[in-house]
Amino acid sequence: MKPHDEIEYLLSPDALFWAMEPFGPPLGEAACHVWDATRFPSQAEQQAAFDGEPVKPERDIPQARAMCRECPLLQSCRRYALDSRDEHVFLAGETAEERRRRWRKSGEVAKRRRQVAELCALKVPTVIIAQLLGRDESSIRNDLRILGGRLPQSLTSA
Ligand code: SF4
Repeated sequence: MKPHDEIEYLLSPDALFWAMEPFGPPLGEAACHVWDATRFPSQAEQQAAFDGEPVKPERDIPQARAMCRECPLLQSCRRYALDSRDEHVFLAGETAEERRRRWRKSGEVAKRRRQVAELCALKVPTVIIAQLLGRDESSIRNDLRILGGRLPQSLTSA
């Protein structure tokens, strides 16, 4: 049985999704949510550019960057891009590949510990957390030790 099969008995798909992706995109009036006909010939092409699949990269990426520069959510979007370590979409003026070049190991560890904390708060057994995150159990236990006092109240009082 795969970890995702086992976890269906423990959690709803929504709860699992948010535990695995604990960083939400910025809320508010994102420039990329409105079609800018002066920059993209069609709404679909704009969407494709922000989905990380530009139809004509040499034309679409500079246009997407320009939209991000004018977006009121630019700072929070940059933070989200950093925390989420999204590997596909165009965010805060950068392609996924451009962001990946700046990734540091510390960011990967921070994201994993956040996932561990969220899954633990949902009372997912350590063995399944390890399988979901592709780690061995001892490294998850080590994360939990390090998280210690930073675990949600529901866990520390259990
Ligand atoms: S900064 Fe760019 S990607 Fe982020 S919400 Fe604004 S327009 Fe969209």
